[in-house]
Amino acid sequence: MTGPSSVAFAETLRRQIRETGPIGVDDYMAICLGDTAHGYYRSRDPLGVDGDFTTAPEISGLFGEMCGLYLAHMYELANMRNGAGVIEFGPGRGTLMRDMRHVWDRLMPGLNAAPLHLVETSPSLRRIQREMLGTDAVTAWHDDVEAALAAADGPLFGIANEFFDALPAAQVIHKSGAWHHRLVGLRDGELSFVTGDAIEDVDPSLPDDPAEDMVAELCPQATHIVTLLGQALARRGGAVLIVDYGRDGNPGDSLQAVADHRPVDLFAAPGDSDISHWVDFAALGTAAAQAGARLVGPVPQGRFLMRIGLAARADQAAQHAAPETRRALLAAIDRLTSPAQMGEVFKVALLVPAGAGTPPGFETETGFENEGGAG
Ligand code: SAH
Repeated sequence: MTGPSSVAFAETLRRQIRETGPIGVDDYMAICLGDTAHGYYRSRDPLGVDGDFTTAPEISGLFGEMCGLYLAHMYELANMRNGAGVIEFGPGRGTLMRDMRHVWDRLMPGLNAAPLHLVETSPSLRRIQREMLGTDAVTAWHDDVEAALAAADGPLFGIANEFFDALPAAQVIHKSGAWHHRLVGLRDGELSFVTGDAIEDVDPSLPDDPAEDMVAELCPQATHIVTLLGQALARRGGAVLIVDYGRDGNPGDSLQAVADHRPVDLFAAPGDSDISHWVDFAALGTAAAQAGARLVGPVPQGRFLMRIGLAARADQAAQHAAPETRRALLAAIDRLTSPAQMGEVFKVALLVPAGAGTPPGFETETGFENEGGAG
């Protein structure tokens, strides 16, 4: 979707690059998504059939129900009933939180009564979230994790679904025996990848022994958020689910732009297409451990949801449904869990204080390690 706004925005970007030189891939992504005038997330609702992409909570209410049940279980295990807070990163339309709150309403009123902290930068999505969640929750919106952690007290229970994939990723490329910054510059006057300077201070997490022209990604904002959140959980207790598409290691070149449910060229419609990347769960795990916390998983979403009882819950819901509703329900379950759809590339991890033991849904079986990685 190349609208007049994205044409003007592309010209602004080209002019800036002509005047001050190439910019990092992470800067390009941050500007395209977050620019206050033209940024993709600033002014629109990108989700659902009328938008550019569909997320798990928008596919079926059972996704939010299962996540809500899971967090209710964690809350009960933690046995710290007083002063807990609920946190969500990038709540989108607020659908996931609404569905989790439905469950808590019946099963865990303590979580429903806890103050709700939403980390969201988009003013238009904040409006939609406010409408979706109504006024019975004591809700505060925050621009970043720092502000949310400063405002919230006590143990934190929460979720981030398709949030980390939207944080700006930098790219590096291996050429002539050295890692170089991969930048966005101009080629024949058009936006294009260009190779920047060799990197002196190479990130230790980058793959050893890379092939010529190998591309790798680093997401310092993701590491930063998990570090702060991990430190907070280590001190206060709690549990935060992280659900995203990605792999348990560096994803390589995973940036993709999507408009109208179709992949588009990364440079074709800046500000009018969503840009995301695969999440490096191994990097998040390292950050969590260094913060005194623990990232459990990741495991594939399909396996996680089945392990925590999605099939049984779907059967129960289907029993009372009309045939058409039942078919739609089964199709939604298939979309969320089958390896050919979201079941495998999407992963679930759990950030908790350091400790041992395997929380439900994360039991590993031989042969399942590192499955579904980027090709
Ligand atoms: N969790 C929702 C929406 C995912 S889309 C769902 O599953 O449907 C990504 C969400 O993250 C949007 O709400 C977007 O506005 C928000 N977001 C993206 N970058 C952000 C940032 N840097 N800080 C805070 N929120 C951000």
